[in-house]
Amino acid sequence: MKHCDVFIIGGGPAGSIAGAKLVQAGFNVKLVERQTFPRFVIGESLLPRCNQLLAEANMLESIENAGFQFKGGVAFQTPGKFEIYHFADNLGEAHNSSFQVKRELFDHELLKDAERKGVEVEFESEVIAYDPEANIVTVRTKQGDIERYQAKKVIDASGYGRVLPRLLDLDSTPKLALRRATFCRVEGDIRPADGTDGYIYVDIHGDNDAWIWNIPFNDGITSVGVVCTEEFFQSKNMNESEFWDHIIDTTPAAKARYAHAKKINDVGFLSGYSAAVKKLYGSNFVLVGNASEFLDPVFSSGVTLALESGSVAADLTIKELNGETVDWQVEYEDYMLRGINVFREFVTAWYDGRLQTIFFADDKEPRIKQSITSVLSGYVWNPKNFFVKNSGRAVDTLVSIIEAR
Ligand SMILES: Cc1cc2nc3c(=O)[nH]c(=O)nc-3n(C[C@H](O)[C@H](O)[C@H](O)COP(=O)(O)OP(=O)(O)OC[C@H]3O[C@@H](n4cnc5c(N)ncnc54)[C@H](O)[C@@H]3O)c2cc1C
Repeated sequence: MKHCDVFIIGGGPAGSIAGAKLVQAGFNVKLVERQTFPRFVIGESLLPRCNQLLAEANMLESIENAGFQFKGGVAFQTPGKFEIYHFADNLGEAHNSSFQVKRELFDHELLKDAERKGVEVEFESEVIAYDPEANIVTVRTKQGDIERYQAKKVIDASGYGRVLPRLLDLDSTPKLALRRATFCRVEGDIRPADGTDGYIYVDIHGDNDAWIWNIPFNDGITSVGVVCTEEFFQSKNMNESEFWDHIIDTTPAAKARYAHAKKINDVGFLSGYSAAVKKLYGSNFVLVGNASEFLDPVFSSGVTLALESGSVAADLTIKELNGETVDWQVEYEDYMLRGINVFREFVTAWYDGRLQTIFFADDKEPRIKQSITSVLSGYVWNPKNFFVKNSGRAVDTLVSIIEAR
């Protein structure tokens, strides 16, 4: 049996930030990652809140030095309607910009930084079992050996692997409809020439039947994904590649942007990615990032929530290992769910069309636009933001005011 203070499952952003914070507080951390890095993962557009969390973990410098594409905001468009949110026009949050990143490079930078800071990282080894009472994790190593680790705390940052939710039967049914994303990378797109070429552009297809993400990288390559319900995809009776071509070709903004672009890889897809759990923690473990909840790609909240949860879980673990009492329900689960629920309200209102009513309304008061910008920047815990305080009601109230005008 081997021993460590904290055992982390998975080396994505959630695992790296948690590990980096813990070792900097003097604890000994073992992180096991089943793949070899760099590895592809979807989720390439970050929010300004990520920069703040990385700065607090002393990890922003290595990301800034890696020279990723600057991202200053987000634009939404459909024929005849356009709305742009510049991150700088927020409610006075600490960070005003972020990055568009190829995740294989970004995640590798973070994990290398965590390793430099002292996290013991083991690649190509997989967590296969967990005993929650004894807090013992079983690992199958790259060589095929079985090793057991006893830890004071286990942090599950296994993302789509969902290791502890599977092993401990913690999965619950997500409240969002079953959707799919069909995506690939292209080169040679025509980018906006007004200084917003690094922004994420979101194109609405048809009558809100699907939407397209346009995520530009700084090497001329752009990630282009189409998101829709499973039924809409099936109704077209096409394979993924035909479907992607069809949606680009029948969405005016995308058709123009990709008129001369070439795909540089096969069209891939992911389906049924929303996930939820019954509990975000147990007496000896905590779930972070996608191993806990995942909502939807539309507001690029995934990495932000992964970094936030990894960061808070690490802070609370440090407190606990230093002998202080931690109320995991209040300080972790309730806290995380408050932010997740703000995004959930936005996601729901996006798909039922209420949010477009707000986004595309003329003459919005500056305070409303700043408040929306703060949410779109990942600042979903700021109590001064009325979308945070009363997310559901705030959207409904605004929609009624706009419709009554
Ligand atoms: C279609 C789509 C589009 C998205 N777009 C965006 C976006 O634009 N912006 C954004 O912020 N988010 C986006 N996301 C979400 C984003 O992909 C995730 O939220 C993010 O990757 C979560 O990070 P993580 O650290 O929790 O997990 P991951 O990045 O998935 O890392 C988990 C790691 O755990 C490892 N692992 C798994 N099982 C085991 C095991 N048994 N043992 C050891 N290691 C294991 C995996 O190999 C992996 O490396 C999108 C998601 C989808 C589905």
